[in-house]
Amino acid sequence: MKILVINAGSSSLKYQLIDMETEKAIAKGGCERIGLEGSFLKHSGKKSVTIESPMPNHEAAIKLVLDALVDSEHGVISKMSEIDAVGHRIVHSGEDFNKSVLLTEKVIEICKNNTELAPLHQPANLTGISACQKVLPEGTPMVGVFDTAFHSTMPEKAYVFAMPYEDYKNYKIRRYGFHGSSHRFVSEEAAKYLGKDAKDLKIVTCHLGNGSSISAIDGGKSVDTSMSFTPLGGVPMGTRSGELDPAIVEFLCKKHGFSVSECLNYLNKKSGVAGLSGVSSDFRDLAAAAKEGNHRAQLALDVFTYSCKKYVGAYAAAMGGVDCVVFTAGIGEHDASVRYEVIKDLEFMGIKVDADKNKQNVDGINDISAQDSRVKVLVIPTNEELVIARDTQEIVKGLKA
Ligand code: ADP
Repeated sequence: MKILVINAGSSSLKYQLIDMETEKAIAKGGCERIGLEGSFLKHSGKKSVTIESPMPNHEAAIKLVLDALVDSEHGVISKMSEIDAVGHRIVHSGEDFNKSVLLTEKVIEICKNNTELAPLHQPANLTGISACQKVLPEGTPMVGVFDTAFHSTMPEKAYVFAMPYEDYKNYKIRRYGFHGSSHRFVSEEAAKYLGKDAKDLKIVTCHLGNGSSISAIDGGKSVDTSMSFTPLGGVPMGTRSGELDPAIVEFLCKKHGFSVSECLNYLNKKSGVAGLSGVSSDFRDLAAAAKEGNHRAQLALDVFTYSCKKYVGAYAAAMGGVDCVVFTAGIGEHDASVRYEVIKDLEFMGIKVDADKNKQNVDGINDISAQDSRVKVLVIPTNEELVIARDTQEIVKGLKA
């Protein structure tokens, strides 16, 4: 079975065509600047190419992707009907879905109704779906895989806020959590690696990338997570502030003359380690600047790792223990010094890192815990696309049964 995985953003669209026999991507790429001047597609299949072409909308982008996939020179399939199904990444399930679902008209309608919970991302995801409906052969099954779904197992005490309960009931204001596919994937990989049943493990997963979130996974279920009502909550990120005293919003509005939405844009796009350092949102740039003595770059790194460390401790407390800490995503997989700062000095909790193993670059899973560490510390490359493809395959197989 070949599954096309689509991750549609507002002006971009990433894709992978995954052969489920090997679970490997046989082609992947992305369209950038959709709806803008200078749009292009970067595709790697039989060959890697960059195709500059106008893409006024997502439909045009999907058409270009499909053309690339069947192209005689750089394509990997001979006709579109070789695509057995499409898996779409969708940001928000609201409280309507706790797992991946077949995208029927009714489901798509429910997803549309949840747009107000993710106004920046959900419309783009939905546009990706309708573009595929228009361009792919009729009847190609499509599945929605939600970023929030894995966290639907959180207990009420972890997801409600201390506000009038009616605001939760009436407006669904609560913690949802994001990066669910990644937290699920790496926690399952960790259990496999440790040769244990996920049911018997307490795991803290640290997804540290452009956006970062940390989750507590007890017995294979997410019981808490740092991102919140929106992906602005939790630890500081590249350009997002992470959690703040909410009173700061009004204060900032007054000082800068912002409207509330301008203020949120400021907290989403101009804050985080980029705002704190004044250098960059990229941790490689921060490390280089800090090395040259830039105080604010070092401070941004310290604020980030200190916040992550506190979540590791908090979630161990929340679960009444921890057996394994996992690092994943761009920073978690590649930045040894961030990992070290997050988990050093946690010997009192049974967490001990092997500094040399931590510095090694390993293909696949890297166990960086010291021999005598009670808690395993693992670096696990995430693969959200594979989660989407696996869920899609399972649902589509169910349809045929
Ligand atoms: P996204 O959330 O866009 O998927 P990623 O998980 O790819 O983000 O993470 C991207 C971030 O990871 C970059 O902004 C950078 O800060 C960090 N990163 C990537 N590679 C490295 C590296 N070799 N060393 C340190 N940080 C890295």
